[in-house]
Amino acid sequence: MVSKRISFLLAAGCALFLASGCGVRNGATDKAREQQRARASFANVHLDNSNDLVCGMSLAAEVGDTAHYAGKVFGFCSQGCKEKFAANPSQYLAASGE
Ligand SMILES: [Zn+2]
Repeated sequence: MVSKRISFLLAAGCALFLASGCGVRNGATDKAREQQRARASFANVHLDNSNDLVCGMSLAAEVGDTAHYAGKVFGFCSQGCKEKFAANPSQYLAASGE
């Protein structure tokens, strides 16, 4: 009886461990690492704009995301700005004069 209970607890513990292990791997830790990697890779990318076309922020210090459009590479401070640009690129390009 007692040993059965212990093995059940062990099994439950293992399941929990596996489940939470998976969660951590796909969660915040990995996302942060991925963002860091992305940021590092943007450092070597030549951007055709020096300011975020959507919010106007300078991209000298930090590039959050990039988009390829009309043979150019545009940098953005964040994925949100990139998505706004992607939804209507010609509008933002016309406004910026790029
Ligand atoms: Zn922005």
